[in-house]
Amino acid sequence: MSESITPEPPLLEKELRELRLPTIVGNWKQAAEEAGKRGTPYAEYLADLVHHEMLDRHDRRVSRRVKEAKFPSLKTLDTFDFDLQPGITREKLLELARGDFVTRHENVVLLGEIGTGKTHLASAIGFACCQRGFRVRFMTAADLTTVLIESKSVDRLSRKLDQLARYDLVILDELGYVPFDRAGADLLFTFVTRIYEQRSLIVTTNLPFPRWSEVFQDTTAAAAVIDRVVHHSTILQTEGKSYRLKSAECEQLLDGVKETPPS
Ligand code: ADP
Ligand code: MG
Repeated sequence: MSESITPEPPLLEKELRELRLPTIVGNWKQAAEEAGKRGTPYAEYLADLVHHEMLDRHDRRVSRRVKEAKFPSLKTLDTFDFDLQPGITREKLLELARGDFVTRHENVVLLGEIGTGKTHLASAIGFACCQRGFRVRFMTAADLTTVLIESKSVDRLSRKLDQLARYDLVILDELGYVPFDRAGADLLFTFVTRIYEQRSLIVTTNLPFPRWSEVFQDTTAAAAVIDRVVHHSTILQTEGKSYRLKSAECEQLLDGVKETPPS
């Protein structure tokens, strides 16, 4: 009788683990029993196992990307009411969600009043890009400058910039909410220049471009940043009242606050 070359299951599982195939480790035995009962051809059994490993690997990768992106909350295009934003079409957003703009190193600017869905849309596009396998990082513009200022103070600025430049897409939320000091504005400019035409940015802001100089406290710096961000970019304008305050009760509540005389 010829000697069996089938590895013992413990060895098989050890080797599968070494090959980093955890789904096959979990599935092979039961799938083998079922295949035996049904008379499934060997090739089909193997193809099925490998296919499930591939599907799980894709899911694991997306979860890693989403975790790494640090979205403030998970938003998708499915939950966005496009009827409230006539200037923004679902088709345009679906196109951005395919991530081709990231491949082309282009940018997106979402401009509009507070509460009109900018962060929602930026996060939804970012989430879709994670699903496409892109590396994404969400941060507020204020957080980015803080991180850069801290890195500079400990002589690690270039390392930090390298690290940020590894993301395919950086979402800079809330540009304009907090003005930067000179050092912060310079560092933001350094960052934007570093990734210009190499990576993609989504910027959300409540400030129309002519008012960016208020944030940068310098017209030339503002113009230089706008120039790089806007070159090869899609600009989307959100309109209307704050979604958060849309309901009648909220408006009444606000009116009540406004009408209450200071005590
Ligand atoms: P902004 O970033 O413009 O201040 P957000 O994106 O944070 O506004 O929106 C505020 C809240 O309202 C979020 O919970 C968001 O999901 C929701 N929201 C805003 N616009 C829409 C919309 N058109 N459809 C569904 N939810 C929306
Ligand atoms: Mg926002």
